[in-house]
Amino acid sequence: MEKIHPLWDDIMPALRAWRKSFEEAQQLSGNETEPSVTLVAEQYKQDPWAVLASTIVSLRTKDEVTLGVSKVLLEKAPAPAKLLELSEEDLSRLIYPAGFYRTKAANLKKIAAILIERYQGQVPADMDALLELPGVGRKTANLVLIEAFDLDGICVDTHVHRISNRTGWVSTAHPEQTEQGLREILPQKYWKSINALLVLYGQRICRPISPFCSQCVISDYCKHCGVTRSR
Ligand code: SF4
Repeated sequence: MEKIHPLWDDIMPALRAWRKSFEEAQQLSGNETEPSVTLVAEQYKQDPWAVLASTIVSLRTKDEVTLGVSKVLLEKAPAPAKLLELSEEDLSRLIYPAGFYRTKAANLKKIAAILIERYQGQVPADMDALLELPGVGRKTANLVLIEAFDLDGICVDTHVHRISNRTGWVSTAHPEQTEQGLREILPQKYWKSINALLVLYGQRICRPISPFCSQCVISDYCKHCGVTRSR
């Protein structure tokens, strides 16, 4: 039996309201509500290499760019060995216009070499092993575990970090602390879905500057921490 956190009376109605608003947005805009890496995972049947490569591409890059670049990249490099056949220069050109494309090209080459050397060309389904790969932080590792291996993880990006702090669920300075805080207060069955719910909500309602609190479905449960100006 999982322990009920003292904040649960605020959290449960908020999760229900977010889920409802997410489903409504999905009905209006179809798969535009899905993060790009989720769409890549669906298109490539949860192939771990496709998920890892597109997750690297997605860092600091818009969803629509990630989708297009991932498709081009995975056509040329459907497996780590194929990627190693490309020069770093060609790889950089291939993944442009993703942000930081030169750094990502260098990291992808190193990652492919490590996967072949240590894991027979496979992506490991293990947080610690993923964190040893260049350019892979906790957000990326969690996303790979969730999307490629259907394991439980909490992927904390800027939206999840901001909203979790504004609601008062956590009081943290860094996304990694937020992930740990959410692991303590959220029952495990909600871990995987929290990212998609909050990313969409963060893009549309709980925006970084002047959130739309007057339109927010969870305003009654939110402590508005750090919100000085809202609409
Ligand atoms: S009430 Fe405002 S600050 Fe709180 S979650 Fe909603 S939009 Fe964000």
